[in-house]
Amino acid sequence: MKLKKIKFIVITYGTLFVLSCLFLLLSTHGTYSQGDNRDHMRRLLSDELFEASPRLAEVPIIKTLDEIQEPKIMFATATTETKIVAKVDVETPVKAEPQSKTIPILMYHHIRDFNEPTDAIGTNLSVGLADFTAQMDYIKSRGYNTATFADIQNGTLPEKPVILSFDDGYENFYQSAYPILKERGMKSVSYIITGKMGGDYMTETQIKELSDGGFEIGAHTISHPDLSTATTARAAKEITESKATLEAIIGKKVISFCYPSGKYSQAVEDEVRNAGYLYATTTIGGIANIAGNSYALSRYRVNNGTNINNFFE
Ligand SMILES: [Zn+2]
Repeated sequence: MKLKKIKFIVITYGTLFVLSCLFLLLSTHGTYSQGDNRDHMRRLLSDELFEASPRLAEVPIIKTLDEIQEPKIMFATATTETKIVAKVDVETPVKAEPQSKTIPILMYHHIRDFNEPTDAIGTNLSVGLADFTAQMDYIKSRGYNTATFADIQNGTLPEKPVILSFDDGYENFYQSAYPILKERGMKSVSYIITGKMGGDYMTETQIKELSDGGFEIGAHTISHPDLSTATTARAAKEITESKATLEAIIGKKVISFCYPSGKYSQAVEDEVRNAGYLYATTTIGGIANIAGNSYALSRYRVNNGTNINNFFE
């Protein structure tokens, strides 16, 4: 009698338990695999997106077209004055208050007589010797005086300053532009790629001679990479080591930097600032506002056939 009762209870409750388990399993499976499952996936995805978006927003990639576009002529007059409080460490030289708020900075590449239909980019980036000579004479005739970034830093900017910048440190700068500039008592800034010295590029001896003669030497990385897509470690190396290499050659601080192909991001700009540079130039077309962000300076591109007269007021 007792045993029968126990058996009855076990079978009844056991069956009920198994049945309810089955029911639960079927009902959850039914609904979950339809709507809930999709909702769940959607929630997971949106969580991931939500997490990722602020990180992306923190590092805006600023890319500009290099080697292709003619500069847009802009006579921007600074209406808003931004005070830049730079992080100054013991090593970093302190900037003087700029005497002039806007300076035209011209961007040159090759100075050579070069016209190759098979090399359209090379041809476009080359200003012939006669054109270059005429341009330098025009600048002088308009009463403009060549300056360097060191002049801004030291507070020794001349009246009507203009900065002539030459990217990549080609040997033809030394052979062709340098004598034309020297003859006229003009100076310029050369941006050197430290992994490319000698051959088609200037040698260490030539770079030192320029620096000793009052021509400024700026850095243009070690290997001319796209810094906006380079890893943080790679960008840091390219920015800091090129500076150190040039400083060892010229025996002076290197204060100016040029983003290769004008490509950079906020993180790259910060790295350039932290490395101890004071000025960085882009390929954004226009007059440079030196009272604004000195790490995003605009320039006027001078290519083959460019009429520079429009860059001077
Ligand atoms: Zn370059």
